[in-house]
Amino acid sequence: MALLETEELYVEYKSKKGITGNEETVRALNGISLDVRRGEILSIAGESGCGKSTLAKAIMKLVDVKSGEILFEGKNIADFKSKKELRDFYQKIQMVFQNPYSSLNPKMKIGQILSEPLVINTKYSKKEIERIVEEKISQVGLDKSVLNLYPHEFSGGQRQRIAIARALVLEPALIVADEPVSALDVSIQAQIINLIKHLKDNYNLTFLFISHDLSVIRHISDRIAIMYLGEVVELGLTEEIFQSPKHPYTAALLSSVPQVNKNNPIAQIRLQGELPSPQYLPLGCKFHTRCPYAMEKCKTQMPEEKFFSDFHTCKCFLYP
Ligand code: SF4
Repeated sequence: MALLETEELYVEYKSKKGITGNEETVRALNGISLDVRRGEILSIAGESGCGKSTLAKAIMKLVDVKSGEILFEGKNIADFKSKKELRDFYQKIQMVFQNPYSSLNPKMKIGQILSEPLVINTKYSKKEIERIVEEKISQVGLDKSVLNLYPHEFSGGQRQRIAIARALVLEPALIVADEPVSALDVSIQAQIINLIKHLKDNYNLTFLFISHDLSVIRHISDRIAIMYLGEVVELGLTEEIFQSPKHPYTAALLSSVPQVNKNNPIAQIRLQGELPSPQYLPLGCKFHTRCPYAMEKCKTQMPEEKFFSDFHTCKCFLYP
């Protein structure tokens, strides 16, 4: 059984339009169905505005779902309503954010920051909490002496290690990491990516990893879902996506990444134009306004999902 599944997930919200102030409906997620398997890193890739972060928020129950389901360990998270159910849920699923500084309370020492979730959510003794905090800070590659320091005394990379340690203290089953390295220098990014891989390999953790950076995603992922305007248009194993992209949008995203298989004719596409606004979604295939292969039917009909292997799927009329 998958650790987490989304089924035909739709999320929309109201936004005020320009100087008129009229409300418009933003259709952020438009039928997302995917699963996150235990022990894997599933990455979500796509341009800014494609709905990646909204997906993370929906999974964390931070935005309302219009329709569809999110199943965590086989249970619909919409049914988690009591304090106990919500507390149990938020013990098993943790989030790491883009900016580690804003997610760490500047007035608290690192030891307090890491102890806090354990004090609130468990009945562990003070000694046991100290042991867990020391264990987790060591797992992210920091010495326990840092527990007496404040967040401002650390570099960006160290702060992200601390944020990851805080996510680990409750022994979650799933960590949702939303652009966790994009605010860091490139050299530091590699360290955090290697840390996440190390945690996954050695502690059987599962990650939903959200990033716009395909080089990062290639290095870290077991599988990749490509999102466009609130839909998953292609999903596959990392090497399937990089060696044999099927969807023209995937190919366009990959064309800017070094060492991608340039022999595949579809990998020669250059992405043109802007992402349409989610207030005004195109009919048919949502990529048709930017797709060099678009046909008449692409403007009115939505392509079905096609299978290329057990893991590799794509929604595009180019494939019969
Ligand atoms: Fe392009 Fe049509 Fe495929 Fe959409 S369905 S990606 S418009 S060819």
